Amino acid sequence: MAATTSVGQASSAVAFGGVEPDAAWREEVRRLAKQRDAVLLAHNYQLPEIQDIADHTGDSLALSRIAAASDASTIVFCGVHFMAETAKILSPDKTVLIPDARAGCSLADSITAEQLRAWKAEHPGAVVVSYVNTTAEVKAETDICCTSSNAVEVVQSIPADREVLFCPDQFLGAHVRRVTGRDNIHVWAGECHVHAGINGPELAERAAARPDADLFIHPECGCATSALYLAGEGAVPAERVKILSTGGMLDEARATRARSVLVATEVGMLHQLRKAAPEVDFQAVNDRASCRYMKMITPAALLRSLREGVDEVHVDPDTAARARDAVQRMIAIGQPGGGE
Ligand code: SF4
Repeated sequence: MAATTSVGQASSAVAFGGVEPDAAWREEVRRLAKQRDAVLLAHNYQLPEIQDIADHTGDSLALSRIAAASDASTIVFCGVHFMAETAKILSPDKTVLIPDARAGCSLADSITAEQLRAWKAEHPGAVVVSYVNTTAEVKAETDICCTSSNAVEVVQSIPADREVLFCPDQFLGAHVRRVTGRDNIHVWAGECHVHAGINGPELAERAAARPDADLFIHPECGCATSALYLAGEGAVPAERVKILSTGGMLDEARATRARSVLVATEVGMLHQLRKAAPEVDFQAVNDRASCRYMKMITPAALLRSLREGVDEVHVDPDTAARARDAVQRMIAIGQPGGGE
């Protein structure tokens, strides 16, 4: 088993393994969670067995809100590191554990606080808008965070004559620039590696091959923002495209008359959708669109986390306070994302 715990080394690291997610595992996880007074949260892109053992599943912001409202003294966040950090920022007095701190995020890694400071120095007076997929240090350098659900409204809330620095997702930035019509938005050239699995020709080809299928795009994680951008460009017929938050996607799955649905997002979401509407044929636009960081949270990693009280997430209090301001401004504007 690998034992280092620095963030963002997942590309070369071997996940904790050797534990089967059987009944004994489930019983032990529940027993340890109770003993630790811990609430188990799992992002929608987690392995099915991790989603099934969790107290709550959802998108990162919904889970952070659940964490803050929970009575439990410990939060075990089964997701990637920036998500657990956001939970810590919103719940500074709770113990926040992530089962494997090496579960980073290629999108969050595409800009550092130092790079952002240098960019700000080139554009004095500009307003910084950062997607939630960023580190706590980057959030602390940010004026307003956004999700893909409220990015347009966040930018529209900024006076038209102020320059905007938008980071780190280039697809979401291009989408916001197109919808707002502003030409004073500078967009950082970051992206999520899962984007590569959801490209334009593939999206159009899959949609043409399944003319009866609806297309669900879940915008809460960076992996789907390219699909969001392509749908806006007209790569697929607009009437078949449904851009939905997690809760909205599950509601739509139960209500849809379509017998088949193409899902443009990380493949972990299929598990929740198939459970919600077993009679509908949900297929991934690209079944290689799997986040290797999310899959670092294995049954063995969760067991280790609960047994040993690791990996604890710490955010420096000053950084957390500044980051919290940016996150709270985000929550105050529009619909920041789907709750569960
Ligand atoms: S799917 Fe992409 S944006 Fe989401 S956690 Fe993985 S690397 Fe980051």
